[in-house]
Amino acid sequence: MRTPQSRLFQAAVMQSWNAIVITDADLAVGGRVEIANPAFCKMTGYTLDELRGRSLKILQGPETDPAVIDELRNCLREGRVFEGTAVNYRKDGSAYTVRWSITPVRDDDGVVTHFVSVQRDISESIRAEHENRLLARALDAASDPIIVTDVDKRIIFANLAFANVTGYGVEEVIGKTPALFRSGEHDDEFYATLRASLASGSDFRATFINRRRDGSLYHAEQSISPICDDTGRVSHYVSVSKDISERVDLEQALRQAATEDTLTGLHNRRHGLHLLEAAQRRTQAQGTSLSLLVCDIDHFKRINDRFGHPAGDRVLREVARILRQSVRSRDTVIRWGGEEFVVVLEDCPQGPAAELAERMRARVAEHRDAEVGTCTVSLGLATRAPHETTDALFARADAALYQAKRSGRNRLAVA
Ligand code: GH3
Ligand code: MG
Ligand code: MG
Repeated sequence: MRTPQSRLFQAAVMQSWNAIVITDADLAVGGRVEIANPAFCKMTGYTLDELRGRSLKILQGPETDPAVIDELRNCLREGRVFEGTAVNYRKDGSAYTVRWSITPVRDDDGVVTHFVSVQRDISESIRAEHENRLLARALDAASDPIIVTDVDKRIIFANLAFANVTGYGVEEVIGKTPALFRSGEHDDEFYATLRASLASGSDFRATFINRRRDGSLYHAEQSISPICDDTGRVSHYVSVSKDISERVDLEQALRQAATEDTLTGLHNRRHGLHLLEAAQRRTQAQGTSLSLLVCDIDHFKRINDRFGHPAGDRVLREVARILRQSVRSRDTVIRWGGEEFVVVLEDCPQGPAAELAERMRARVAEHRDAEVGTCTVSLGLATRAPHETTDALFARADAALYQAKRSGRNRLAVA
């Protein structure tokens, strides 16, 4: 007689989403099917009629691992619960990977009368796992650093290139946020733009200055893109970057080479002229004063001749340093060429400019090089007259310098 409870059990088994099959306990044959639920029939491709009375050996095939089947047999013989994974075959011959458990069912006397097996086709999750592993390997093979974060910006994946560039181990950064790489070189506005852009679902591209594990900084051209799930909600962010430190360093070196005199570190003539013209425009517009000093080392040729070129170079560097240290930080000191320097004094009338020039002259004369001894400079000063061009101002300063040389050197002449 079927009680309501037994009806409930039957309904539960037949409607279960998991595949369930119940066999007898005749191990000599291999357990004949008595009941299989629709999920089991769907998974195997057999109807219940086709299965009933047959051993489940029919599901095994060339790829079925014999070791798993041995273990299964041992468990059943000893009345233990079995749990395992193996390849099985459907009626049409196609293979699937199944994870299943088999539990012995005992009667009131404790004798095993049946086995109940609950099975699940895990082919899809295995395929997904393989695919994930393949994708991770592909990302690892990429030469550009890549990280993936969840929606809370926690890193869930980082590739090897990322580890190489930052110096962090992949395991070390998992679970952390990219704030770990913040250099402090970007202002709040930068991050506000980043957040706004991602919040609106757009990519964010910028040159980031990041911090490596060892504290050093690097430049990365980085793009961060939101990834949406099936419902269209942002679920992850992926960041792909390119370490461009080498390019940035090179650009900086080129910029420096283009504007700086290599021997003295002062502005070179080309860049100096550019700065002079900018100062001319500024002071003209503001109606402030502009003084120009031209400074030339006296009898420098003799220094070269007596002590050699390297000693001459050293003297040039020493004079350059004295000039640089004598002026305000906003003033411009240029190596105009050879042993000639030009000093641009913005917002500096003739009086203070002459005092400054005199101080420079005295400091150079006081300085003593261990090998060469002392050397002197002559200076010409001109302060811009209203509407005077740079060329005219320069010509007057030059004429003053010529005057200083003619009057005996180691002196200042004011135009
Ligand atoms: P004056 O007092 O009239 O200025 O005489 P001077 O010898 O300083 O002038 P002159 O223009 O005759 O000589 C400048 C010398 O500076 C000639 C050149 O060989 C030397 N010189 C130019 N550039 C460099 C440099 O980069 N290094 C060294 N060591 N010497 C340089
Ligand atoms: Mg000279
Ligand atoms: Mg000269």
